[in-house]
Amino acid sequence: MLLDGFGRRVDYLRLSVTDRCDLRCSYCMPEGFKGYEEPRHWLSFDEIERLLAVFARLGLKHVRLTGGEPLLRKNLPDLARRLAALPGIDDLSLSTNGTQLAKHAARLHGAGVTRLNVSLDSLDRERVRAICRRDALPRVLEGLEVARSEGFHLIKINMVAIAGTTDEDICAMVAYCMERGFVLRLIETMPLGETGRGIGFLNLRPVRERLRQRFGLVDGVVPGGGPARYLVSPDGGFQIGFITPISQHFCATCNRVRLGVDGVLHLCLGQNDAVDFRTPLRSGCTDAGLEEMLRAALNSKPWRHEFSERPQQMVRFMSSTGG
Ligand code: SAM
Ligand code: SF4
Repeated sequence: MLLDGFGRRVDYLRLSVTDRCDLRCSYCMPEGFKGYEEPRHWLSFDEIERLLAVFARLGLKHVRLTGGEPLLRKNLPDLARRLAALPGIDDLSLSTNGTQLAKHAARLHGAGVTRLNVSLDSLDRERVRAICRRDALPRVLEGLEVARSEGFHLIKINMVAIAGTTDEDICAMVAYCMERGFVLRLIETMPLGETGRGIGFLNLRPVRERLRQRFGLVDGVVPGGGPARYLVSPDGGFQIGFITPISQHFCATCNRVRLGVDGVLHLCLGQNDAVDFRTPLRSGCTDAGLEEMLRAALNSKPWRHEFSERPQQMVRFMSSTGG
């Protein structure tokens, strides 16, 4: 079992397979962003598989493929198949903006990706265009329908709530998710990079109470629900989670770290502590050496983010860390 220096069990890795993206969500990536990692620095599938095999031997169980937009990485289903087959990995999921999902859903499902998180901030085409600076809504909705028909039974919609998101926007999304059996999660914006700081923050605590009243929801627990706090319909058929890193943080139960496409392991989304694994991977480090490095890295995982106390300190964008 992998424990960090505070005794928290770390069994979840978010694996960024690219820092590139076809959208430019205003809270995530600047419109003219050019600072991508050079392809020669991207971990190859062989390197990723080797490092995750070492990690899995130490207790890693859950892997989420993310980015940037992970579906932009060529042959992603091949990587998914290799990771799903690693002994110890019992859960492989994907976070995507959904624009390429219609094309890839069947192969991803066949490769062993079992759960999908799809980011969608509104059902209003113009609002989506304004937020992600591309006309993405029709492709995302089509991707969701295809994913559902390809057998993805657990689909979560991640909706970032920003200033200007109204209760009506959220209620429209609730109705959409209820109808299709999707789990909805509302997310508070985090001050990651100038983009994350430049967007108006919406506190989800009062929103949660209003939704509780309006839909007659009750507190609920959702298995594998992560840091979200859930409300559910009385019959359990609909679930809505609130991810509130700012208004009510959940660092005490943090179980995750993030591996960038460049092989740098980020120990906390909201701190700069990180360890480079690309160099040892490419300079003959043994598996025992990698194990040693992982244990030492985990031991230095920070206790918590300081988004409220030191909002200026994170210059990395969410897209470059792996959200
Ligand atoms: N491109 C994929 C997607 O959009 O789902 C995966 C990567 S994206 C960085 C992962 C998640 O991070 C998305 O749900 C996105 O909405 C969220 N995100 C990005 N920037 C954020 C910020 N500043 N605060 C909160 N969430 C953010
Ligand atoms: Fe791309 Fe996801 Fe960031 Fe939007 S949130 S710009 S889709 S990486």
